[in-house]
Amino acid sequence: MKSIITFFTALLIGSTLLAQKNTDLPKTSKTLAIESNIGTIEASIDLTKIVDDKAPVTIIPERFKQDTVIYRMPKVIPGTYAISDFGNFIDDFKAYDKKGREMDFTKKDENSWMIPNATKLRKITYLVNDTFDVENTKGIATPFSPSGTNIEGNNCLLNLHGFIGYFEGFQNNQYQLEIVSESKFNRASALQQVGEEFSKDSLTAIRNYYAARYFDITDNPIMYGDFETEEFQVGDIKVVLSVYSPNKIYKTKDFTETIYKMMEAQKEYLGDINSTARYDVFLYLSEMNETSPSGFGALEHHTSTVVVMPESMPIEALESSMIDIVSHEFFHIVTPLTIHSEDVHYFDYYEPTFSKHLWLYEGITEYFATHFQIHQGLVSEKEFYTKIMSKIQNASIYDDTMSFTEMSENVIASPYQENYANVYEKGALIGMCLDIMLREESDGQRGILSLMKELSLKYGKNLPFEDDKLFDEIVEMTYPSLREFFDNHVIGNTPIDYEYYFEIVGLEFSEGLVETNYIMNNGALILEPNANGTITFTDMVLENSFWKEQGALPGDVIAVINGTPVSMESAEQIFTEVYMWEPGPEVEVKLLRGDEDIIIKTELTQSYTKGNGLQPVKDASAVKLEIRDSWLKG
Ligand SMILES: [Zn+2]
Repeated sequence: MKSIITFFTALLIGSTLLAQKNTDLPKTSKTLAIESNIGTIEASIDLTKIVDDKAPVTIIPERFKQDTVIYRMPKVIPGTYAISDFGNFIDDFKAYDKKGREMDFTKKDENSWMIPNATKLRKITYLVNDTFDVENTKGIATPFSPSGTNIEGNNCLLNLHGFIGYFEGFQNNQYQLEIVSESKFNRASALQQVGEEFSKDSLTAIRNYYAARYFDITDNPIMYGDFETEEFQVGDIKVVLSVYSPNKIYKTKDFTETIYKMMEAQKEYLGDINSTARYDVFLYLSEMNETSPSGFGALEHHTSTVVVMPESMPIEALESSMIDIVSHEFFHIVTPLTIHSEDVHYFDYYEPTFSKHLWLYEGITEYFATHFQIHQGLVSEKEFYTKIMSKIQNASIYDDTMSFTEMSENVIASPYQENYANVYEKGALIGMCLDIMLREESDGQRGILSLMKELSLKYGKNLPFEDDKLFDEIVEMTYPSLREFFDNHVIGNTPIDYEYYFEIVGLEFSEGLVETNYIMNNGALILEPNANGTITFTDMVLENSFWKEQGALPGDVIAVINGTPVSMESAEQIFTEVYMWEPGPEVEVKLLRGDEDIIIKTELTQSYTKGNGLQPVKDASAVKLEIRDSWLKG
């Protein structure tokens, strides 16, 4: 997954990290009892009977031989590292016997329904509430938007794990899924369609899909409704891009060129790593009102990704975010989708255990998504260095002495969860350091990508590695220097001295002006909320070139941005947009300074602040230049 950090998340991280304590976590242990049972579970979702954004679901299991059975909705789903509790979105749960009589059951916890007399169980029915509707409701924990569900008249985002659960012990049973909808709806599915029929008046369509096991239910999203789809070929992959833009601001065509160019470069970069025949990109653009999603970013699947972004973003900003995000998700094909440990392979949706190796799953993936852009000539060296420096800056808001392996294994609990997003920052930098080390040790012959290829040949989609043995194995395949690096900086808690690695490739820090955004200087917020409900600039505003040039001063109240009044309620939405501003468009901001109204109306220009940049060392040795060359272009 990739989550875009928002204004409030940044605030929250800032404050929780200050207040964090070390808690001893109980270790969870589990035994996975998955019976091999070939019976089919039939599931039906009726999108023609949606009432109040709730869709009815029917589950018809095989006959059970045991006395008691537990039906569960997932607590956690693969690729997310937080609790989702999809059971919280189920209403009106009912169990029936074959004569249609209601049966007794016990709700065991948020996600579990225990049904005694299971031999008599014929059918389960319930209503599913959508998660997008309540994302902005205080006090309700909701799944990360790209893993969530939307159920409304003209758009249904069917992350199927939000609709369909599993019977404990029967996760390997196959599913036959039926979706009933109005036939006028468009649809795109990562799950294989196996049948289709229409009602006599042709207004209703019934489509059938097949999932080999429960994992395939969670791994294959479907979208129904009023949206556009475009298909195009990138080498031997058929890419299917579906874009839902509620106010029809964007068309699918607006993104095809960008995605094509990007995926072509990714395929070139990856070389012969095995790939899928079809890849679906589902882009849901959020209106950013009370019932729309606000967790921007994406979640990866084996043959698809779901992306949620604001509809109000200008095209340039949306395109560059799509490149960063979709390329990240596509690179997940390497890890964890191909290279993963047993925790990932035998994922337990109810009591998951987490692998030590988020540096690998998210860090290396994010590194690839950054590195392929320079390697394939999509960005300049200077732009690449700026991206690397912004990762160093962004990483500085997290706990730099927290062991990455400890954080990974305990990621759903505090204080590790608050530091999770560092996998996209420090995690990617770990990937960079390893890449540089491998290139130095092998005279440019090996790098982190070639190491991943070696690992994918050894393991692969169907063969997990042993979590505790991965570091030993990598060291055995490579060089002793990697042992030291893992021990100190991935398992251990020693911060990384990045200058040491840059020196190997003839680069050095340079103090000067660096690019920043419009709410932070180098990752530090330049505004703060006040007890009276206003949001004001801090002293730091004077070191943000854009605002300084516009005459903003510390203490100015930020009252209105582009016509929207700023309040504590609207702040998250507004400042998420401001965070993603890019130079170009005109903005209008009203500040209050005492009794005075100050109107700033101007075109956005790049903002700078003081900080470290990265630049080539003059007179770097030929050896260093060679290693740099192999790193950037090898
Ligand atoms: Zn990811």
